[in-house]
Amino acid sequence: MQDPHNKPIKRVVIAGGGTAGWLAASLMKKVLGKAVDITLVESEAIGTVGVGEATIPPIRLVNQVLGIDEAQFLHDTKATIKLAIRFENWKTKGESYYHTFGAPGKSMAFCHFHHYWVKARQQGLKADLWDFDLNYHAAEAGRFAQINAKDPVVELPFAYHFDASLYAQYLRKLSENMGVVRKEGKISRVQRFTDSGFIQALHLESGDVVEGDLFVDCTGFKGLLIEEALGAGYDDWSHLLPCDSAIAVPSERHEKTAPYTRSIAHDAGWQWRIPLQHRNGNGHVYSSRYISDDQACDTLLSNLDTKPLGDPKLIKFTTGRRRKQWYKNVVAVGLSSGFLEPLESTSIHLIQSAIVRLIQLFPHNGFAPSLESEYNKQSELEFEQIRDFLVLHYTVNERTDSAFFNDMRNITLPDSLAHKIALFKESGNLLREQNDLFLESSWLQVLYGQGITPKDYHGLVNSVPEVQLNQMLTRLLEIKKEPIAKLPTHDEYINGMVAKYKRAMS
Ligand SMILES: Cc1cc2nc3c(=O)[nH]c(=O)nc-3n(C[C@H](O)[C@H](O)[C@H](O)COP(=O)(O)OP(=O)(O)OC[C@H]3O[C@@H](n4cnc5c(N)ncnc54)[C@H](O)[C@@H]3O)c2cc1C
Repeated sequence: MQDPHNKPIKRVVIAGGGTAGWLAASLMKKVLGKAVDITLVESEAIGTVGVGEATIPPIRLVNQVLGIDEAQFLHDTKATIKLAIRFENWKTKGESYYHTFGAPGKSMAFCHFHHYWVKARQQGLKADLWDFDLNYHAAEAGRFAQINAKDPVVELPFAYHFDASLYAQYLRKLSENMGVVRKEGKISRVQRFTDSGFIQALHLESGDVVEGDLFVDCTGFKGLLIEEALGAGYDDWSHLLPCDSAIAVPSERHEKTAPYTRSIAHDAGWQWRIPLQHRNGNGHVYSSRYISDDQACDTLLSNLDTKPLGDPKLIKFTTGRRRKQWYKNVVAVGLSSGFLEPLESTSIHLIQSAIVRLIQLFPHNGFAPSLESEYNKQSELEFEQIRDFLVLHYTVNERTDSAFFNDMRNITLPDSLAHKIALFKESGNLLREQNDLFLESSWLQVLYGQGITPKDYHGLVNSVPEVQLNQMLTRLLEIKKEPIAKLPTHDEYINGMVAKYKRAMS
């Protein structure tokens, strides 16, 4: 058998059939087409992690590339619309703020909108940051429709909440229709070439052997290929993000479906509530250094706002990232590549961007070391930038009632984050770093929402006469609210789309 180091890469083997496995299969087949043969191995007996239901707007690009019809998608995955995350009890108990997918105000050259708002607030303006945000108004009013506006000031960016297992089934159907071959069975042994250490084949318990050139490890937390076979190593970030456990439980749906995720801080972590068409997804993410699993379970169950629909499920994890996400002829995608807790719903996005990166750097003619190192450089930066954004939520807080939050205020921050916080605090400045997933508007909402008001604003603001500044802000407040009354409710939108799909099918 020839070592695949320097020969054309044709046979792609995906180990694992969770969201990561099937998203990798469908996107790679759709884009790379006949250039690759894809086999996916998964084990129903092992199953999937079974969570992961809130997303961020780039998921819509994936759906577009895959040619997914939105009405069918909403119908098949029981999806709802997500306009924002509402953070409750994070700054202090009883206070809340939104991190929306919109942007407060409007985009301005050289000097961001919030500098004008900071000056106006110093002069007595009452309107809060979110009063200038259409996503906020729509989330609060429980209304939604796709707005195809020419003017970005009245755009309503959105993502989805969906049932993760239905999404994986949906992607499986798509992938198999495109020619991806699925093999059921448990991988019992990983065979490697003796000289290079590259992976040659996966041996299944059934006796089947699946050979490949490139292996995509989507086997979940354990990283069967990248870690157990190749020992790529793991950077543990628990000192920055100490939550290491989650308990998840579904509950009955509400009569009205909220178009946002709730994130409710407790004493040693936080609780998510994700509304779907047929149920709510709930979970408590916490640090086991501060409470026991039983206490965490009680906290979750006593804070559900509807009746539970099943038994709570406990999941343990270590926050961090695989030191090399591409190593030899294995690329780790999904939980096998690392894990950042679901506070900002970034894991499915990380799957998506890993696959895009792999397609962009695909080793068509063999495993050139520069491809591997470029891939690893980009994924390292991406994980670190998201990590910093998550740490921000915890470390800037005024919660003096909880040992966990007291400790989080005093952790030693990565220089990159400490600099960002200081820059904003002192000057109001926020500048997007390279390809940071989170734009200035996201950092602004969380920095301000968690309790930092900049001391200063940009000097350019002073060139606008006060009367003009007030007129601009007053007009913007009207513009941002105007569309709301004309929008259908979120439930009317979802029901309308589902009915449209059913009509098309009948
Ligand atoms: C508590 C929690 C909440 C989360 N919430 C969100 C969220 O709101 N939004 C978001 O974007 N992400 C979220 N995530 C992350 C999200 O769940 C994952 O990114 C996503 O499900 C992908 O998982 P995966 O496919 O990598 O792994 P898994 O779902 O674990 O799939 C692993 C696959 O590998 C197979 N496998 C494993 N070993 C073998 C073997 N020996 N032989 C054959 N097959 C094998 C399994 O059968 C399975 O098919 C959350 C994660 C956790 C832990």
